[in-house]
Amino acid sequence: MKEQEIVTKSAEETRAAAGRFVSELLRDDVGRRARVIALWGDLGSGKTTFTQGIAAALGVKGVVNSPTFLIMKKYPLSGGCQGMSLYHLDCYRASSTEEIVDLGWEEIAGDADNFVVVEWPEKIMELLPPDRTDISFQNLSGDGRRIVFGKAS
Ligand code: ADP
Ligand code: MG
Repeated sequence: MKEQEIVTKSAEETRAAAGRFVSELLRDDVGRRARVIALWGDLGSGKTTFTQGIAAALGVKGVVNSPTFLIMKKYPLSGGCQGMSLYHLDCYRASSTEEIVDLGWEEIAGDADNFVVVEWPEKIMELLPPDRTDISFQNLSGDGRRIVFGKAS
């Protein structure tokens, strides 16, 4: 059964949760378009940390950091996902939807060989495909973070 909601107590636990999420994701049938994963939540709620766990589980070699100043970063995958790519977008500083379109959004999101993780998806609402996966993050006290699979409210 898929997890609906968990509370993690450390960045490592959040990365581990992302790994389990990827296992579930890879069990689903591949669609005709990219798998888009929208990460909702405030600054510091763990979106980038979760993305690091996704990247590790997909076989990204090397470090995944916040791409804030780049907006988008592409990582080649290895292992079972050899030949596929992970795109990590942080739309926090995106000034408009067109900026993301100009980065090649349609082509990237239209390619079934891509995983596309989007932080601050609210900045590109009209680009998000309806069949995306929504995951919501919430800061709890201290190192606690609530992760809800599905869109919270
Ligand atoms: P966001 O991308 O949502 O702004 P980050 O993942 O960049 O958030 O930052 C989360 C910060 O909180 C990191 O410094 C991380 O080490 C720390 N942290 C502490 N506890 C947790 C937890 N349970 N899950 C995720 N990150 C945590
Ligand atoms: Mg981030």
